[in-house]
Amino acid sequence: MIKGYHGIIMKRYEELREEERSSLLKRKMEVEAKAPELMDIEKKIAKLSMDLAVLNFKKNVNHPEEFSKLKSEIVDLRGKRLEILTSLGYPLNYLDHQYACSRCQDTGYIRQEKCTCYKKHLIEAYHRTSDFNALIKEFTFDKFRLDLYDDEEGPYPLSPKENMANILEASMDYIRNFKDSSVNLLFYGSPGTGKTFLSSCIAKELLTAGYLVVYRTADGLIQNLKDVKFNENEELLELLLGCDLLIIDDLGTELTTEFSKVELFNFLNSKLLRKKKMLISTNLTIENLKDKYDERIYSRLVGDFNLFKFLGDDLRIKKNHERNKKA
Ligand SMILES: [Zn+2]
Repeated sequence: MIKGYHGIIMKRYEELREEERSSLLKRKMEVEAKAPELMDIEKKIAKLSMDLAVLNFKKNVNHPEEFSKLKSEIVDLRGKRLEILTSLGYPLNYLDHQYACSRCQDTGYIRQEKCTCYKKHLIEAYHRTSDFNALIKEFTFDKFRLDLYDDEEGPYPLSPKENMANILEASMDYIRNFKDSSVNLLFYGSPGTGKTFLSSCIAKELLTAGYLVVYRTADGLIQNLKDVKFNENEELLELLLGCDLLIIDDLGTELTTEFSKVELFNFLNSKLLRKKKMLISTNLTIENLKDKYDERIYSRLVGDFNLFKFLGDDLRIKKNHERNKKA
């Protein structure tokens, strides 16, 4: 379920502020136990700050002397407070409220605009509730086994291993240039040739770099588009359209209906117009894609994506063989 992300994120901000309030209280008690006079100073500062605010509020009355007197008293007291803190070996900001994000003070907003930290929380919230989590833990670059690919040349100019080495290099380039590029990727080839594995590796790297990567099977995406259409789930649409990279896994396994074709086309088109990147993987050949989807979808897939053909035998079968041999 992807409904209600915004609510989850706002609750997280509330938690952050609450955690810090209680942590600040603890720090205060800790320092005051060592220097009881600090409590007195804190109270005086609070009282004088209040007086200053009241004075400020009554702007029509002019009290320049009183104003500057109050100010300098506060400055003195703050100085004393800092002296005590340093003498006890505490950092100077030990008794200040520590925001995880000082820009928005952990509210998520700067006036009407979402703060940059909002996205970080969106990524966290999204991934806490996503089955993609398991995938990116298991499939990472350090576990990628190039040695499982065949070195023998087949019907293609490159051996599966050479071909995969090229794709790996292109993937690394893709990650490196991700920010400034609007390139989409299409991985195609027989089942078990590493398409989902490599998609997951790329996702993991980009997530770590702070990008919002959303993963959907083609079927899941169509279900989501239904939800958007019939339940007006705008938040979901925004997530799918606005994320930095949308991975659509297993294109071609979804049930294709008139609805799915129209919605898929409109969706792909909106993504391309917004220059929001996609990584699609499919077990279909290019010819199969042409047969399964209409001309409009086909021409987007072939024209607006960089195509990578995955070669080789089913690696899952190979790995099982290996495991059985060891056992
Ligand atoms: Zn912020």
